Amino acid sequence: MKEAELRETEDRLQAAAAPLASLADPTPGSELGAIRVPDGEAVFELSDVGVWYGNKHAISGINMQIPVRKVTALIGPSGCGKSTLLRCLNRMNDLIPGARIEGEINYHGTDIYAKKVDPVEVRRRIGMVFQKPNPFPKSIRDNVTFGAKVNRIKGTPDEIAERALRQAALWEEVKNDLSKSGLALSGGQQQRLCIARALAVQPDVILMDEPCSALDPIATLKIEDLIRELTKEYTIIIVTHNMQQAARVSDNTAFLLAQEHGVNGQLIEYGPTNELFTNPRDKRTEDYITGRFG
Ligand code: ADP
Repeated sequence: MKEAELRETEDRLQAAAAPLASLADPTPGSELGAIRVPDGEAVFELSDVGVWYGNKHAISGINMQIPVRKVTALIGPSGCGKSTLLRCLNRMNDLIPGARIEGEINYHGTDIYAKKVDPVEVRRRIGMVFQKPNPFPKSIRDNVTFGAKVNRIKGTPDEIAERALRQAALWEEVKNDLSKSGLALSGGQQQRLCIARALAVQPDVILMDEPCSALDPIATLKIEDLIRELTKEYTIIIVTHNMQQAARVSDNTAFLLAQEHGVNGQLIEYGPTNELFTNPRDKRTEDYITGRFG
């Protein structure tokens, strides 16, 4: 798939996801499990997960557990299936025509692809932040409270906005400008606004698809600090092509690779970040992290 087409896919997903998130109606008696789980438990358990786009098998045979309140990084060369895997975790691939998933993804023990599970509720609990900051052309306050209002999150708009903006480490910079357009902020502030918007609907997990790739180094460090801070309460799964970033922010790293001759992306190695970077078990991981390819 060409770069431009992939970009178009991301734009289309962003456009589709925004109104969906905002329409989300908390499902009474949802089939999804309780949010607060003990440390050490897995948020996700993936069994033999694969994704097809039409007749292209993009990823296959992915087995992994993702622990609660940790940062898990997905790394690997372009096209190995990092974004595809990430999008499986909140059923975002459902929005791509022709995409089909195989295997099973359990979220707190519930199969998120089961018939009884509402994909809109899945996307509320498992939020997403994209590569390109995408605030709505609305005020900073409305950007944050838009989804929260339709999700009937408790609190006045000002309370909800303040809570989420504080969590996203943006409050001090915007507290006197809540009526200003979200689009008037810098790129890094816009990305933190998008994180605040994701947090305002009270998710459990935040998926981040290269959230810093459009940002300068200072804005990037702010987001990285924020990611570390957020793990006190949230589980973060981040796609990054920047290995230093994976090493800086993540607890665990998964290395994916689409092997030669068009073979689909597979999970090559997965484990604690410091071990994977200092003592990789697989030669292909070593070659990638030492810059021999990719
Ligand atoms: P990465 O995030 O690691 O760069 P992707 O998950 O974007 O990889 O892509 C994995 C493979 O699936 C690539 O070969 C890509 O071309 C293909 N792919 C991604 N999105 C689509 C799509 N919407 N339609 C068809 N093929 C796709």
